[in-house]
This record gives sequence, C-alpha cells and structure tokens, in this order.
Amino acid sequence: MVTKKFMLYFPKSETEKPIIYHLVKDYNLIINIFRAKITPEEEGFLVIDVTGEQENIDKAMVFLSGFDVQINTRKKGLIYDSTKCTHCGNCLSHCPTQALFIENHQTMEVIFRENLCIECLACVKNCPYNACSSLF
Ligand code: SF4
Ligand code: SF4
Repeated sequence: MVTKKFMLYFPKSETEKPIIYHLVKDYNLIINIFRAKITPEEEGFLVIDVTGEQENIDKAMVFLSGFDVQINTRKKGLIYDSTKCTHCGNCLSHCPTQALFIENHQTMEVIFRENLCIECLACVKNCPYNACSSLF
C-alpha cells in the first residue's frame, strides 16, 4: 500500500460527475480529502491523499485521464516559497503538523516538509512575508 497526494482541477463540465466515488468503488482506494473548493464559476479544486495498491492508483489515473480533469503534478495547493521566507518563525506555532519546522537549532532555518502538510492554510494567514500562498 502506498499513499500519494494529488491536487485535482475540475472544469465546470466535470464538477457534477461522481468521479471520486468511482476511485473508491472501482479501484479500492482510500481517499482522504484535505481541501475542496467550488468557485462561483463552478470550477472545482481538490487536494487529496490517495491510499491503495500502486497498480490501482495507476489504473485510477488512467480512468481520470478519460475526463477533462487536470492532475496537478506539483501535488499540492499550498506553496511554500523559500526565497521569500525570512525564517522569522511566526508560522511555527500555527502549523498543526510541524510541516513548517526548525530542524537545526543552530541555524534556526525554517524548512517545509510537504509530506506533512494538511493544507489547513494557517501559515498563509500568519506569514508576514507571503512566503506561504495557496494555489486556490
Ligand atoms: S512566517 Fe513566513 S517568513 Fe516566517 S518562517 Fe514562516 S514561512 Fe518563513
Ligand atoms: S497549510 Fe497548514 S499544515 Fe500546511 S504548512 Fe501551512 S500551517 Fe502547516
């Protein structure tokens, strides 16, 4: 079993189709939804963790490619821009999973551990330097 993170974009034509239902039912995948949004234009954004056999995940991606759904290969909606980060540490107490983290207490450099990010967006609201932003 493996777990992979994906960000999916659904144009208006695809938002009412039961695509996620089929990922669960037909490919035996466990879907953990981190974040979902439907815009006033009826476009959909979804950040999910998918857990299952690699073979089934691969087949599910082929199934998805039959729709007009874009799979974001960056796999995330939260963007951490290390060039803007001043390592001020303001985000650390707001990040519930320690995805933003100080590894080396001598340099006090803040690092971003993407695999731990649950897309809560607390850092977006609490970063004074806009180093954290959301794709949607
Ligand atoms: S609040 Fe922003 S600038 Fe400060 S450490 Fe966190 S990400 Fe970097
Ligand atoms: S979105 Fe939430 S979990 Fe992810 S880095 Fe920001 S505060 Fe941490």
